Amino acid sequence: MTSRGFLHRTLYALAGLVAIGICAAAVALLWIDRRLTWESAYTAGHNLTGVLAADISRTLHLYGLSLQGVVERLREPGIELVKGEALRRFLFDRSSSAEYLGAIGVLDENGNLRYASMDIGPSDRNFSGWDYFQVHRDADDVGLYVSRPYRSPLRGGDESIAISRRLSHPDGSFAGVVVGSLRLAYFRDRFATLSIGERDAITVFRNDGVVLVRNPYSLSDMGREFEFPQDFQQFLVGRESAFVGSLSPDGVKRLHTFVRIDDTPLVINVALAVDDILEPWVRRAALVVPVTLALFLSVMAQIVLFRREMRLRRAFEAQLEMQAKTDGLTAIPNRRTFDETLAREWQSARRDGYPLSLLFLDADQFKRYNDRYGHQEGDELLKAMAATFKKNARRPRDLAARYGGEEFVVLLPNTSRQRAIGIAETIRRAILELGFPHQDNDGGVVTVSIGVATAVPKAGEEPSALVEAADAAVYQAKKSGRNRVVAL
Ligand code: GH3
Ligand code: MG
Ligand code: MG
Repeated sequence: MTSRGFLHRTLYALAGLVAIGICAAAVALLWIDRRLTWESAYTAGHNLTGVLAADISRTLHLYGLSLQGVVERLREPGIELVKGEALRRFLFDRSSSAEYLGAIGVLDENGNLRYASMDIGPSDRNFSGWDYFQVHRDADDVGLYVSRPYRSPLRGGDESIAISRRLSHPDGSFAGVVVGSLRLAYFRDRFATLSIGERDAITVFRNDGVVLVRNPYSLSDMGREFEFPQDFQQFLVGRESAFVGSLSPDGVKRLHTFVRIDDTPLVINVALAVDDILEPWVRRAALVVPVTLALFLSVMAQIVLFRREMRLRRAFEAQLEMQAKTDGLTAIPNRRTFDETLAREWQSARRDGYPLSLLFLDADQFKRYNDRYGHQEGDELLKAMAATFKKNARRPRDLAARYGGEEFVVLLPNTSRQRAIGIAETIRRAILELGFPHQDNDGGVVTVSIGVATAVPKAGEEPSALVEAADAAVYQAKKSGRNRVVAL
């Protein structure tokens, strides 16, 4: 029984482990999967910003070199002697004619246009109101300046940015500005070649937050200030950084990757929508979670069903055991139980040295009762008698049992002969008082004859001796007229 209990507990523990293991494996799998998904998104973001930054950097660098070339050629001695188309060819190299680059102009310290790489309208125009002019005029350490985006009056409102360098006199004082324009279409066309998601965004902005261009393109973005998170300055300190958050008014959470473009005030931000990043993972999780749950529940259900089955089986076995020990007709313990109990009590009484008493009870003239009233009625009488015997075997270890047929026994551990006779007498009277009519018995009612035997068991004696003695006593009772107690 114990080993079976142990076996069951082990089975439950194993099944529980399997259930927990399934869940743990699924959780681990999903967790790793999610991390890998994030990692590849980070990598994708970095790669994208890296490629863009390199490309834009190269373009701006070349443009910067062109401007630097103009600055240097303006210092050539005798420059003021060259005039017209020859001067233009000398000052401006071919890069200014590249697809996205506009005219390059040279302004004097008052903002008046001195030279231009191509015809840009009336030559008496003044540019002192433009941000790039004022920035270079007011500081000599700006280097390559990138202006706010503006609509070029020359190219029908085409969006552009100005890129400029300061011109200085030999003494370092302000001499004017070399300025060229770059069409924002350059960025947009560049972005268009990249395959990014619908909700992903690429933004190019200056490190003071002014947005130059944003993809997907929106007019209202132009020149808008970029809404930085508080710790944005931190991003600008490092060359590269990334964070997850919402920076745009649409409230979409994105993975933002920032890269500064070397030697320029420009920063590129690639923002990948978090939902889109996680979407494939969510789809996989939507498959794994229910399957895992189903497995878990099925294991748990198996445990529950197994437990119920075991409970039913145990109850059934207990019932069987009970039945094996009980007499079917009278529902009191049977001969087998009596034999076992007698052997046990015999040992116990021998060990402790106390008397063990046995009553042997036999219904009087029972054959005739059956003959007159029928077997059915005989059975009913047996039940009533059994109940009476049981009622009078009061102490916990007393045992009333059916010995066989119409013969019963009452085993009384630690009971003296005198007390046993007293109990026997009580039972005899109780049966009499049941008042079952029995016309073929003396007195006209059912009676019982009881033999009493008592022994203080000794080593070498058998319990069967007690039964034989009680049996002999009841024989004596029958012989001397029935309905009486005889103790030998
Ligand atoms: P005595 O007074 O000498 O004991 O006479 P008796 O008829 O009781 O004794 P005997 O042993 O001759 O008869 C026992 C009868 O008990 C025989 C049988 O018909 C009846 N008997 C035995 N078992 C059952 C039972 O389970 N049900 C019924 N109804 N009768 C039984
Ligand atoms: Mg008999
Ligand atoms: Mg009898």
